[in-house]
Amino acid sequence: MKAAVVREFGKPLVIEDRPDPEPGPGQVLVAVEASGLCHTDIHAAHGDWPVKPTPPFVPGHEGVGLVEKLGDGVTHLAVGQRVAVPWLGKACGRCEHCRSGWETLCEDQVNTGYGCDGGYAEKMLAWADFAQPVPEGVSALDAAPLTCAGVTTYKALKVAEVGPAQLVAVSGVGGLGHLAVQYAKIAGARVVAIDVTDDKLQLARELGADLVIDARTQDVGAELKRHGGAHAALALAVNPAAFQAVNSGLRRGGKLVMVALPAHGTLQVPIFDTVLNGTSVIGSIVGTRQDLAEVFQLHAEGRTKVIRETRPLAAVNDCIDEVLGGQVKARIVFDLNAGG
Ligand code: NAD
Ligand code: ZN
Ligand code: ZN
Repeated sequence: MKAAVVREFGKPLVIEDRPDPEPGPGQVLVAVEASGLCHTDIHAAHGDWPVKPTPPFVPGHEGVGLVEKLGDGVTHLAVGQRVAVPWLGKACGRCEHCRSGWETLCEDQVNTGYGCDGGYAEKMLAWADFAQPVPEGVSALDAAPLTCAGVTTYKALKVAEVGPAQLVAVSGVGGLGHLAVQYAKIAGARVVAIDVTDDKLQLARELGADLVIDARTQDVGAELKRHGGAHAALALAVNPAAFQAVNSGLRRGGKLVMVALPAHGTLQVPIFDTVLNGTSVIGSIVGTRQDLAEVFQLHAEGRTKVIRETRPLAAVNDCIDEVLGGQVKARIVFDLNAGG
């Protein structure tokens, strides 16, 4: 099988021929049909974060494909069934977080495409209990971005407890943000989308944003305040200054949900303003299996739209450059059936 491999941080990925992996007990082998390029994969390939993966590794945590082989003890999945393999590759199932519905906080988790090989490959392994069945009517190419970008923003809005009479700011209308705009609309909120390119602002409008702010030319905090301030702001742009900007546009009692993970990012939180205004700063990491099931359900019901461009896996290095250059409309998805 072909796989795109990070051999060294910051160097181009290498397309390699590798033997098909064998599923161990509780695992399945998945023939990957589609695999999304999340900005996290770029952070992984660059070794951006304090906890780093160990090269050589195969990135990718938006892999979707057909179960090809069952490991020992797997009875609830069938060969030929379509599954998605998210960032949360596996959690322990026994700790306080797992038992209280917060498996995403499990300290014994394994992350797909980071702590084990991921979806930038023709075949991949998945732990059967965490491989998410994809419902009928959801294509592999659509399911891929939902598997991280979708579930992460859907969860971030849950964490912010967004309601219908609220103003929600979505900072960064990329892979994550284009879905965040839609989930915030589904939650009934008024949505303000913020970005730095005309195309993304136009896309946000097409996807239902009520207002847009161009962070190149407008003062994000002042604009949000002009509309009463945000009840919730999702920080999805890979830029610490963008976190600072939306934080300053919260209304009293508002919540900043930090989602993007820029390398070496810090946020100055003014103590006086935070106390007096009763604002919160919350971190949010992906979503649970149940969150992902809900994300797939919404898509199967025709309530969300995935904006994607498909590419062959061989184009992986050019694709990374395109994401970093802000040239991608929303999400790139590798089509593993496209050859090359
Ligand atoms: P992306 O590159 O597709 O999108 C980023 C968007 O931010 C782009 O549209 C870009 O134009 C916009 N942007 C850049 N500067 C801006 C600014 N100053 N103000 C407003 N917008 C600006 O990236 P993505 O795949 O959507 O991922 C975003 C981030 O979220 C990454 O850091 C990724 O690692 C992180 N992430 C976190 C989680 C989590 O669970 N917390 C999950 C997935 C991704
Ligand atoms: Zn656990
Ligand atoms: Zn991701």
